[in-house]
Amino acid sequence: MISSRVKKLKPYVPGEQPDDREYIKLNANENPYPPSANVVESTVEFVKSYSKKTALYPDPDARGLHQAIAEMLNRTGGVLCRSQLDGAKLTPDAKDKIPFEVTPDMIYTGNGSDEVLSFVFYAFFDSDTPLVCPEHSYSFYPVYCGFYDIPRDAVPLKSDWSLDVDEMVKRANKNHSSVILANPNAPTGIALSRSELRDMISRCPRDRVFVVDEAYVDFGGESAIPLIKEFDNLLVVRTFSKSLCGAGLRCGYTVANPALINAITTVKNSVNHFPLDAITQVAAKAACQSDGYYAECAKKVASERESFILFLKENGWSVLPSQTNFVFAHKDGTSGKAVYESLKKEGFLVRRFDTPGIEEYLRITIGTKEEMDKLKKCDAWRTL
Ligand SMILES: *Cc1c(COP(=O)(O)O)cnc(C)c1O
Repeated sequence: MISSRVKKLKPYVPGEQPDDREYIKLNANENPYPPSANVVESTVEFVKSYSKKTALYPDPDARGLHQAIAEMLNRTGGVLCRSQLDGAKLTPDAKDKIPFEVTPDMIYTGNGSDEVLSFVFYAFFDSDTPLVCPEHSYSFYPVYCGFYDIPRDAVPLKSDWSLDVDEMVKRANKNHSSVILANPNAPTGIALSRSELRDMISRCPRDRVFVVDEAYVDFGGESAIPLIKEFDNLLVVRTFSKSLCGAGLRCGYTVANPALINAITTVKNSVNHFPLDAITQVAAKAACQSDGYYAECAKKVASERESFILFLKENGWSVLPSQTNFVFAHKDGTSGKAVYESLKKEGFLVRRFDTPGIEEYLRITIGTKEEMDKLKKCDAWRTL
């Protein structure tokens, strides 16, 4: 009864989501802070005062939300951690200022950036051309390659775990390929600067889409959004799940030139006309208007991250530099699985992978100061 297509699928395996509260969850890179008060109030107010609207279909094009995202990007320069809170207003430093106005027709939103990515794969990658991507990156990319039957040209990372940019460029030109990467990368946490990215994109095929997944950029990276007018093949994917404390809302978006946005919208309108429900549209719009709050959260996470990296190093761990809300670390002679299990017994869920090459590493999400202080007290660090 089951189609041969489905028999071939290898689905994504997410971090555990226990429904009890017995664990401190540091395994899915969720934000430890709640959404802003504005998000909660706007959502409650919407459901109470406009309850009939939940009986009606939502705006399929989420116009109000696209406007709010465009305004947030123009205001913040597209990154939270690096912008400065100036009274009640966020201002990007000169480097991060976007040199043009982001307009709503440059934005597409979907049910989490996972769905956005899925439509991007369908819209731009063909089965006759391998897609160039880093060997270790977001583990959904190979899943979508399998789903859409897109060959994958996975380029190994360099020995310091950074992207092998020259090799990726070489392979993209060899097969006239599209490229996808996460910047900062996951699960390593390492970022390319905007000027490195500009150089990379300019050396890759200009008539193939180049995708930059910026799920973690708000925690210290540089956004590629300011490059969109330079490269009409550049597509930047973002999410409300990490820095905007909204993993449960399921809202992701992409920023690109309108011609690319139109292609994704065509895919959406051929699959599900209404990927974003009315309540999520209200909540996400309110989140965009609370960028000062989220910038504070991102800065707290970044500061805990640096303190935790120091702690791990003092305990003999090797830790990669991180521009994200997680660290990727291992200790020579210690099994990643043993530490994972020991931490679990002590009440902490962290992430490990069975992927060859990274089995001994742990990816640990940065929580609140209280959570990280408790984590540092675990026996696992001393006994293993
Ligand atoms: C978390 C994550 C996503 C998925 O985000 P959702 O919007 O929750 O679907 C996409 N890309 C990367 C690299 C991520 O880490």
